[in-house]
Amino acid sequence: MLAMEYRGPKRVRAVQKPMPEIKHPEDAIVRVTRSCICGSDLHLYNGNVPDTRVGSTFGHEFVGEVVEIGSDVTNIKVGDNVIVPFNVACGRCYFCKQGMFGNCHQSNSMATAVGAIFGYSHTAGGFDGGQAEYARVPYANVGPTVIPPGMDLDDAVLLTDVVPTGYQAAEMAGIQKGDTVLVFGAGPVGIMAARCAWLFGAGRVIVLDKEDYRLEFVRNYAPCEAYNFEEIGDPVLFIKKITDWLGADCVIDAVGAEAAGNALQTITGRKTLLQAGSATALHWAINAVKKGGVVSIVGVYGPTDNLVPIGNAMNKGLTIRGNQTSVKRLLPRLIDHVQSGRLNPKAIITHRLPMEEVADGYRLFSAKLDNCIKPILLPPTVTR
Ligand SMILES: [Zn+2]
Ligand SMILES: [Zn+2]
Repeated sequence: MLAMEYRGPKRVRAVQKPMPEIKHPEDAIVRVTRSCICGSDLHLYNGNVPDTRVGSTFGHEFVGEVVEIGSDVTNIKVGDNVIVPFNVACGRCYFCKQGMFGNCHQSNSMATAVGAIFGYSHTAGGFDGGQAEYARVPYANVGPTVIPPGMDLDDAVLLTDVVPTGYQAAEMAGIQKGDTVLVFGAGPVGIMAARCAWLFGAGRVIVLDKEDYRLEFVRNYAPCEAYNFEEIGDPVLFIKKITDWLGADCVIDAVGAEAAGNALQTITGRKTLLQAGSATALHWAINAVKKGGVVSIVGVYGPTDNLVPIGNAMNKGLTIRGNQTSVKRLLPRLIDHVQSGRLNPKAIITHRLPMEEVADGYRLFSAKLDNCIKPILLPPTVTR
């Protein structure tokens, strides 16, 4: 089968790989009908995630048709079209039982902090991902969710990560009616978080980024105020100024460690990898939020310490929340939001590429060429 393969930093290609096989009675094999390249895949692509092995296949955002099931799979059947959440979750551990599917204690033998994630290095379990014609889905009674009849596959594939992560970012921000919500980052997740903030009762939504085309998009899509942080001077001061010097009630960090940082963070984080990237966005978030406010982190940070103003966080009485999204927990209500028209995920898709051109997809998305917001990959067997 055709699959994306990692060859080393900034080198990926489409290759022929053996078909995945059922290895456990709870496995299923899915014929992929859509998969996405995600912003967090760029951390892998750039070689910044520990234990990313040459030969592995990325892709944690995919939907497909079930073509084979193990003997213990009862919740889905061959022929079902399913949304496959990016989390690999066992469904029966202490955390899964509480709906914390992103924190499964069983699925990832390689780490204790994070559950397994499809196609996201051996640090996240070592499962091959869905940027391929077929994928093996473990714990197939738990994650895969049948796509409701009539739902566009382009909408469905964004329910694997982007929509739930944007939604959970807004949920974790603890938005109260009328709150001012500030979102750092106008990538797919930041865009979705800005949109979802309204569903939680926000009174005002502000987004900061440095790509004008993304700011233009989110301004119309969320809709919201959107500013280029390279053009407004000190972003923290700017936010204070436009919020009666109080700061935003809730701040969402949808950037993570690969933000363009200040000089010190760029050197210690991005160049020497001493602190697994730059924490500029988080720094701004802590300083731009109102005293007593909430900072919600969904941007991806590395495992080591980042230079963050933790003293300010303490002195301001902040609540800081962050987590991997528990996709399965959120799917019922998000499917409802999509079907009712309150959310229109597929509008963020800007590029559709045949899987053979996966290397171009990574290059385009990574360099933000051609006004790219969200690229999706179409396997050769998919005609529409
Ligand atoms: Zn993703
Ligand atoms: Zn579990």
